[in-house]
Amino acid sequence: MTDSQALKARYADSLMNTFGPPKLVLTKGEGAVVWDADGNRYVDFLGGIAVNALGHAHPALVAAVTEQMSTLGHVSNFFATEPQVRLAERLLALLGVGAGGGKVFFANSGTEANEAAFKLSRRTGRTHLVAMEGAFHGRTTGALALTSKAAYREPFEPLPGDVTFVPYGDADALAAAVTDKTAAVVIEPVQGEAGVLFPPEGFLARAREITAAHGALLWFDEVQSGMGRTGAWFAHTASGVTPDVVTLAKGLAGGFPIGACIALGTSGELLGPGNHGTTFGGNPVAAAAALAVIDTIEKDDLLAHATRLGERLRAGLAHPHVAEVRGQGLFLGLDLDADKAAEVVQAAQERGFILNACTPQRIRMVPPLVLTEEQADELVAAWPSILAAAYGEADAS
Ligand code: PLP
Repeated sequence: MTDSQALKARYADSLMNTFGPPKLVLTKGEGAVVWDADGNRYVDFLGGIAVNALGHAHPALVAAVTEQMSTLGHVSNFFATEPQVRLAERLLALLGVGAGGGKVFFANSGTEANEAAFKLSRRTGRTHLVAMEGAFHGRTTGALALTSKAAYREPFEPLPGDVTFVPYGDADALAAAVTDKTAAVVIEPVQGEAGVLFPPEGFLARAREITAAHGALLWFDEVQSGMGRTGAWFAHTASGVTPDVVTLAKGLAGGFPIGACIALGTSGELLGPGNHGTTFGGNPVAAAAALAVIDTIEKDDLLAHATRLGERLRAGLAHPHVAEVRGQGLFLGLDLDADKAAEVVQAAQERGFILNACTPQRIRMVPPLVLTEEQADELVAAWPSILAAAYGEADAS
């Protein structure tokens, strides 16, 4: 029995079977590369599902967490810490508002950030919410009520809320669904779990007009698409739209658990004392980690780097079996010409690459923003043989 097999057996005996059997047992990482318990090397195009923005073991992140933990690790929300306040100020500035232009609530994950936004929307005095078909917002019951996949929702119904789902990107359907009783409309500016899907040009602006006309909040879930993933700080930045609420998590602290619900303008006043809370949220170590991620993205110009590498991968991964390669920055979705995504992921893994199948026909790539050109080119070079193996064809490359 290999070390990986032995640990997988112990995993099966001791962990709940919520994720299915683990694909690999990983022991260490450096940048965009990880190694398994048997010493095999993989270039990681999943990055902890769009989390490891700075890759693995980044010195700036290690230093920030170590220094903060050795100074003041956790204090509870009865007390304030400087990293927590500085992070809130930085996030508001990245969203284009200064001090007083909005307010932040820190949580520990994407679903919790969304849970806070859900509760905030209730403080409008309205209960109706509009979400998108194909949406994924998390697994806690409020976020799950806004998640469209029946297989995730149905075992746990009834879920909270009065939710209408409309087709993603269909502004006319949205206009028909939103009324003066609608508390909020929640939209992922790019749908990640659905396979990196982009709405039509102008959809976010129409959503802003529709929500404004009915006094409803416009809430962008940027848990996956935010913090540089698309080559911009936020996927909605280019639309020029100012939402009322933005939720973040995943890449925000590069692997340290954190979530943020950011409410702009007067929506920042909707949650008051006693309305919401968390023990860990806003923990100074998580805040220091997030500040290190933001500083490093700025210092190393990783937004431009993500844009360049995304273009390189989109060009390099074109292939007769790939019907479409979509993406912005290092947020890439590939549609295959058949239901072969699981086979492609397996063939890639056998050749030293971690990819993700988000539907039977779709592959998602969300590598660390520090992925190098050489690592991107390694995948491009192996791509024809990965596809040949997945499709059971002779490799002509
Ligand atoms: N929102 C979006 C858009 C996501 O992609 C995810 C996770 O994939 C979540 C929310 C939930 O985040 P978490 O898994 O941290 O709870």
